[in-house]
Order: sequence, then C-alpha cells, then structure tokens
Amino acid sequence: MEGAVSIKDNGMYHIIGRYEGKEITGLEAAVRLGKRATHVIAVGDCASYGGVSAARPNPAGCVGISDVLDRRVIKLTGCPCHPDWLMGTVAYLILYGEPPLDDMDRPLIFYGITIHDRCPRRSYYDAGIFATKLGEKTCMFMLGCRGPITQIDCPIRKWNGHVNCP
Ligand code: SF4
Repeated sequence: MEGAVSIKDNGMYHIIGRYEGKEITGLEAAVRLGKRATHVIAVGDCASYGGVSAARPNPAGCVGISDVLDRRVIKLTGCPCHPDWLMGTVAYLILYGEPPLDDMDRPLIFYGITIHDRCPRRSYYDAGIFATKLGEKTCMFMLGCRGPITQIDCPIRKWNGHVNCP
C-alpha cells in the first residue's frame, strides 16, 4: 500500500480506477485486497500513519492502512520510503517469511538503530559541540534534531545512489 487511505464519505475522494465497470475507491481496494493478501506492507509515512495527507484539517479523512485493516501491517515509515527498505523487505518475505519487527511493526533490519547511533555529526555531540544556527557543521541537537529518537538507517544506507542523507 502506498499513500494514505481516505475514509471520509466512504472513500469517494480517493478513486483509484474502475473494476468490473464500477469505480473503486482506495478504501475498498485496501480492505478487499488487504484481507486476502499474504502480507501487507505500508510503504512510507502516509500509508503507515496518514502522513502529510492526514495533516489538519484533513479534509478527505486520511488515515494509515492499519486503521482500516484488522491485521498486521509491516510499516516502512519514512518520507519517502527508501527503495532498499521496500525491496529488502519484499526479498526477505520471499526468501524467509516475515522479518523480525519492532514494536511498531517496522523491520529491524532497517529500523533497528537510531540516526543518532550512526550520525556523521556524532563526534560533535560526544564532544559537546553544538550548532547554534542552521548551516553549521556541528551537532544539531540544540536546534531540535530528532536523530536521537528516530529509528532508521539513513546515515549508513544513504540516498541518491548512496551519496548523502537528509
Ligand atoms: S543529535 Fe542529531 S545531529 Fe547530533 S549527533 Fe545526534 S543525530 Fe547527529
């Protein structure tokens, strides 16, 4: 599942196509297919929790797929989802079955560390050298960095062909 599920007015603001001559909503597809699937993967923040689509005032009533399916959903949180997280999870499912998950149903192989654990600015943190404004190269903790509580492997996996990370 990619993207949030719109549930307001029975999902009519999220028409994804036609099936047997009838318009089908994302809500209907999520429920119908989600019940039958061997595994359900929520790809990205919107599918996992509603994400930006569910931001106030949330006019289409967007939610994550877990809110419309009464079953386990493997969540690949992040915005956007790194291709490795998706392909790695699919490959793991094919080869070994369900991967070990954390208490938020995210695969530990990708979500088992915090950004802070492997941050390239970590030596500044350990030395107590903190940035006072955006653009400085030192630790961003005093500017509100969420790295210490954000579980994901971005600093070692990296983006853009393994060049950098946000
Ligand atoms: S607080 Fe943020 S910037 Fe500083 S080391 Fe941790 S993750 Fe990196």
